[in-house]
Amino acid sequence: MLRRNQDLPSALQDAEEAYVRANPESLRLAEVARSTMPGGNTRTTLHYSPFPLAMRSGRGGTLTDVDGHSYVDFVNEHTAGVFGHSNPIIQEALRTAVADGIVLGAPNIYEHALAAEIQRRFDSMERLRFCNSGTEANLLAISTARAATGRPKVMAFEGAYHGSLLYFGHGASRLNMPFPMVMSVFNDADRAVADLTAEAGEIACLIVEPMQGAAGGLQPLPGFLEALRDACTRHGIVLIFDEVMTSRLGFSGMQGRLGIRPDMTTLGKYVGGGMTIGAFGGRADLMERLDPSRPGAIPHGGTFNNNVLAMAAGLAALTRVLDERASARMNELGDRLRQGLADAVARHDVPMIATGVGSIFGLHFHQGPLRNEADADAYEKPRAVAIMGLKKLFQLDLLARGQYVTRRILGNTSLETTEADIDGLMAAFEEFLEVRGELIRTALH
Ligand code: PLP
Repeated sequence: MLRRNQDLPSALQDAEEAYVRANPESLRLAEVARSTMPGGNTRTTLHYSPFPLAMRSGRGGTLTDVDGHSYVDFVNEHTAGVFGHSNPIIQEALRTAVADGIVLGAPNIYEHALAAEIQRRFDSMERLRFCNSGTEANLLAISTARAATGRPKVMAFEGAYHGSLLYFGHGASRLNMPFPMVMSVFNDADRAVADLTAEAGEIACLIVEPMQGAAGGLQPLPGFLEALRDACTRHGIVLIFDEVMTSRLGFSGMQGRLGIRPDMTTLGKYVGGGMTIGAFGGRADLMERLDPSRPGAIPHGGTFNNNVLAMAAGLAALTRVLDERASARMNELGDRLRQGLADAVARHDVPMIATGVGSIFGLHFHQGPLRNEADADAYEKPRAVAIMGLKKLFQLDLLARGQYVTRRILGNTSLETTEADIDGLMAAFEEFLEVRGELIRTALH
């Protein structure tokens, strides 16, 4: 049972004290890790204050932390965890691959079959190649487009996350690649087409998430992506769909849902069955430039591009686990959850919005339209301190109820998520609103 507090600071203090008391081993691990990694952290996404929970194990859709608490997993490895934690088919594929040797230094028996399965789902990927992460896939797709067109510039959208070297949330990350960028506004078709047209002769490619993920699960407005498709075709600009996150939203990703054929697509996360992977591909005339048997081919190496574990696990996962029915069910559960969260928000009359598509859901302390980063800033910037506090309170309250959720409140369902799990999360959210509703309204007035 959550305890009621007078105001946000006292609620946060109580919740944080209870969290610290409940998680001594996670705290100890976070502290010792500081001597080797900056802030004890090697992946910023996993950092939250006062310290993140360290997990010891996972089974099905449940995680167990190092202090022995169990959680229903709604983080699911930030959308990469489509298959849960102990899928027997993937485990078997990995055991076989390990037994046969894993660093063979040659083409292996899995890579073509995995590429063919990906191509079956994403038929716009007429040719594709593997790499080791979504970030790398995007860098390679962009660089291939620049090499193929001979144009220097890259167009992208404010708020976009295309990886740790291509991050455009609230300005460009200082780690970003020094590509000459043309930045535009997500979900503003007129503006985007005008920005593209103004510099069309210099733009090699336009990269877009068909639903902005890290920005908060922001759906594309009807016609937005279609307008980008038309403008890119008109000006010979390579349209890249970054489906690293969104490909799980349908058997053929968002491009399948919307019936839009990009020139190139990037993938990552779950397509390696839980192993490290990235993939990029698209029009044969673009990708054939990487064909090493052609004179003047563009070289694309990568020691682990065809690493046996990712190829074997990905092949088993895509051909034997994530079939069309399983994908539809996972996404329908997410739709049910989002609707339930939205209904609870309406019942309690709090300034919050549920976002997302299919299996990916977001919750925002926000009022008014939320189409892009500009909309987010308009409401949230003047209330930034309160919203940071409310997100922290939400996460700590839900963790205390055994619901593993992120601080940024972007979650997702996996193939292991059950109807009962969805009911459990909705009940926990209902209690959060019941106990904290007044405090939320006051903090955001
Ligand atoms: N693109 C999108 C849309 C993502 O969500 C992510 C990761 O969250 C990436 C690219 C980067 O993938 P990776 O973390 O595998 O480098």
